[in-house]
Amino acid sequence: ASKVPSVVHWFRLDLRLHDNLAFRNAINEAENRKHVLRPIYFLNPEKINNSGINRLRFLLQSLQDLDDNLRKLNTRLYVFKGKAVDCLPNLFKQWQVKFLTSQVDIDPEIVEQDEAIEKIAEKLDIFIVKRVQHTVYDCNAVLRKNNGSVPMTYQKFLSLVQDIQVKEVIEINKQISDCCKALDFDCKDFDVPSLDEIAIVGSNLSECKYPGGETEALKRLDMYMSRKEWVCKFEKPNSSPNSIEPSTTVLSPYLSHGCLSSKLFYHRLKQVENGRPHTMPPVSLLGQLMWREFYYTAGAGTENFDKMIGNKICTQIPWGKNPEHLKAWAEGITGYPFVDAIMRQLKQEGWIHHLARHMVACFLTRGDLWISWEEGAKVFENYLLDYDWSLNAGNWMWLSASAFFYKYFRVYSPIAFGKKTDKDGLYIRKYVPELKKYPSEYIYEPWKAPKSIQTTAGCVIGVGYPKRIVEHDKIHKENIQKMSLAYKVNKERKAMKRPRS
Ligand code: FAD
Repeated sequence: ASKVPSVVHWFRLDLRLHDNLAFRNAINEAENRKHVLRPIYFLNPEKINNSGINRLRFLLQSLQDLDDNLRKLNTRLYVFKGKAVDCLPNLFKQWQVKFLTSQVDIDPEIVEQDEAIEKIAEKLDIFIVKRVQHTVYDCNAVLRKNNGSVPMTYQKFLSLVQDIQVKEVIEINKQISDCCKALDFDCKDFDVPSLDEIAIVGSNLSECKYPGGETEALKRLDMYMSRKEWVCKFEKPNSSPNSIEPSTTVLSPYLSHGCLSSKLFYHRLKQVENGRPHTMPPVSLLGQLMWREFYYTAGAGTENFDKMIGNKICTQIPWGKNPEHLKAWAEGITGYPFVDAIMRQLKQEGWIHHLARHMVACFLTRGDLWISWEEGAKVFENYLLDYDWSLNAGNWMWLSASAFFYKYFRVYSPIAFGKKTDKDGLYIRKYVPELKKYPSEYIYEPWKAPKSIQTTAGCVIGVGYPKRIVEHDKIHKENIQKMSLAYKVNKERKAMKRPRS
């Protein structure tokens, strides 16, 4: 056991040194009391299993970067393989922990885990400090401002936050004194493991397009904030879902892991907009960040937010089950080239454009396959670098017209939608290379190409590339009818529950 008491900062979705008030509190406490400072991280094996290889690589890169940056400050990261609830009680005793800091997270699994740990800490007289620093606003304070209920529209949310002052972000750049160093400072057992050590990497790990870490996040932020005109003219609906290089910032993986603070992003955007004509929410870049805040607030105020049953804001829809269709969708072999290209980009690179997410989410649910949004959300959880509990669930509900959005009769066409921004299907040619030699005329609908063209292009439909698993023209109309019925039933159910006057 440690002879000198310890102060622990528990890193979670805050893998950064900037805007990390909880960590600064830990440093101050350790320095004032001359205690040992222990920045820790738990690699939870259950989470590792749910995380695709790309996100795992992103996480390890982020942890390595954090450790490198901590070492520059004369401290280090202690990484443990295990669940926090299993490891922390021992560490509390072994390290004589007196003070524990972390950020506030709203994912119910983390909330539950925190409650269990707080009980243990209380018994051991450990003082806990938690800070809201994953979002621009304190979601619970916004909910209180709305009398405890969830703001169900974006405009309502904006009206609730419009007078709230957003505090400046702090930096941590002072060297930490030697007295805060533990004796096991150089012990390799706590090093960030390599990807091979914790996962079966396999041969299909693709090239790393978006490396993890705070250093990379800040570089990316600087790069975009220097393009002032681009920022001021940004209109999300006019960005392209199928450009070869991303048409939006791809800051999302950094925000969701906390490599980038949303507050820093907010202030930098405000600086760029200041004194210049600029677009406005919901379409502006600042407006995008507000979507994140909106879903976080909704998630914080709704029980079972990531499920249909038991979720009071989610319309109950009798989705069907079709494991073969779900698999075809997830693997990008539906026979619809645009849908398949998107799902293959997701699997390979871990990021797809927002409107591409619209396309595939609509296709899986109310548009074509009539499969529950919860199934789609699980596939996204596996593949997305930016997977985020509340953003994923909230957006899936939106796209499946289960909450927030109700125009279920507006269905994305897997043929017409992509053509608007990529007539020749360059995006499809990249991610569905079987079809690379198809004439532009048939690239979105290869089944329509005469056999001779299919043969010349080197890919016969049904042989080199699958036949369509459903007929969009027919099925989407049937599904609109099913949605209409589900809405009617929900309305009747609600009316029955309402007390009669
Ligand atoms: P930009 O357009 O550059 O926007 C900047 C930031 O604003 C983003 O990084 C993100 O933090 C936030 N933002 C943008 N759009 C949204 C939005 N619609 N909702 C909430 N925040 C937004 N985003 C995630 O971060 N994690 C998820 O798990 C996730 N799942 C999604 C599932 C579906 C079905 C859909 C339709 C969208 C999902 N999104 C999710 C939202 C959105 O698609 C991504 O945040 C965005 O595409 C990320 O790219 P970007 O950083 O280039 O965005």
